Amino acid sequence: MTTPSGRVFDAIIVGGGLAGLAATHRLATNGLRVALVEKRDRLGGSSALSGGWFAFSGSTLQRRAGVEDSDDLFLADMAATGGGFADETLLRALVDRQADAVAAIDRAGAWTDELKVSAGMTVARAHLIRIGDLLAHLEDEAVAAGAVILTGHPAGDLVTDGSRVVGITSATGDLFASSGVVLASGGFSRSRELLDLFVPDQAAAMPYGGAGNTGDGLRMAWMLGAGLADIGHVAGTYGQHAETSDDEHELLTANYLGAILVNVHGQRFADESASYKVLGSAVLGQPGRTAFQIFDAVVRARSKPGVPLSDMERLEELGHLVSAPTISALGRELGIPPERLERTVAQYNESVSGRRDDPFGRTGLVNGVGSLVRLETPPFYAYAAVTAMTSTYGGLSVGADTAVKRVDGSRIEGLYAAGEVVGGFHGASYMTGTALTKALVFGIGAADSIARS
Ligand SMILES: Cc1cc2nc3c(=O)[nH]c(=O)nc-3n(C[C@H](O)[C@H](O)[C@H](O)COP(=O)(O)OP(=O)(O)OC[C@H]3O[C@@H](n4cnc5c(N)ncnc54)[C@H](O)[C@@H]3O)c2cc1C
Repeated sequence: MTTPSGRVFDAIIVGGGLAGLAATHRLATNGLRVALVEKRDRLGGSSALSGGWFAFSGSTLQRRAGVEDSDDLFLADMAATGGGFADETLLRALVDRQADAVAAIDRAGAWTDELKVSAGMTVARAHLIRIGDLLAHLEDEAVAAGAVILTGHPAGDLVTDGSRVVGITSATGDLFASSGVVLASGGFSRSRELLDLFVPDQAAAMPYGGAGNTGDGLRMAWMLGAGLADIGHVAGTYGQHAETSDDEHELLTANYLGAILVNVHGQRFADESASYKVLGSAVLGQPGRTAFQIFDAVVRARSKPGVPLSDMERLEELGHLVSAPTISALGRELGIPPERLERTVAQYNESVSGRRDDPFGRTGLVNGVGSLVRLETPPFYAYAAVTAMTSTYGGLSVGADTAVKRVDGSRIEGLYAAGEVVGGFHGASYMTGTALTKALVFGIGAADSIARS
């Protein structure tokens, strides 16, 4: 074993997003000595940037809203969204342990009343959480319980004693762990090299997500023979304005409120109710890799100020929502042939009225749920959006106890992983809210596995 010249803890957590903070909080409040290292000068990662949507079944909010959901339906929807590729053991573990996440949000007082149907769901299951409040609560309580949080402290390599992981190297000081190291370093959405390697067909997506998410944890575990899952399915998310800043996202999915998507030629090209990951790939294949969300005043009135993915007011303030009194004037504003856009909208309206079949099989607002509306009430609106690589949901192979597995399925002793660095959970696509629920549930789960070890 490398002689410990650094500090020794019971556990070390690599990465200060939701998964890392959840693990740190759980360990510290259970009396274990824990250090969290974060490579950036502030905590948060993609979690702090995110929309804050979490997927849960059987919540108080759902019951209050009269939504009939169940753990089995949640599981079945996730399995269907994953196209049969997701590891059902992981899905079952998430469903069974969601109460841990709900309790953490309760303690943080971070619930809002927003509940909606979103990508991959057959019922309203996306709960909007004040993510900033949740992260701050986890950090504050962890520090109060004695956790050491080191920012500006990038983990370099994993240190092993024989085949067991016992610590991390870092240019700013090595750290050692007697019970385990948790990789909670997020995905690789900011690594051009890894995106080119794993998903070259997505290389044109706009790099997004936390600036520190360059796949470090993936490489560290890979060096020890870790297996990978779902990597080839990673896909960008459609709905981001091309001029979004690095610290604020501008995702809009007006299509889930009734908009259609058209390309620069004014043509539809997909069922707009599909997952924004599926649409993300479809948009990458369109000219200019851009699609316009086209809608009318009725859809515009469904905007929810302050609610991520549905906030049109914010986009209007930024000057990114275009409007015009007629569809043809809108086409001229956008540089789309006006007659073509008029024809596309007229044909769509005929499909909504049932006078012709929708050529892309669209039957609902989102995932086949919700009634479509004819786009006929002026003024008309357009939002130009591209595909952004917000998160990379393929990653390390783990068991339901979060222990990292080698390529041959054997376990790497002392090494755990949680959050976006983990694969096997989403399969081929992604249900809104499951990335954050996964980070919180399995961050807590990693801590519990270490406490039991
Ligand atoms: C714009 C946007 C919107 C999103 N909206 C949603 C949503 O509404 N619902 C949902 O479910 N998902 C959403 N996602 C995805 C979701 O936010 C992430 O999958 C989730 O937050 C990942 O959490 P995490 O803790 O695993 O990683 P992160 O929160 O990204 O944290 C990882 C941390 O590890 C640090 N790190 C990396 N390498 C090292 C190293 N070598 N040493 C030390 N630290 C390191 C990083 O700097 C980062 O701070 C969204 C993502 C984005 C970008």
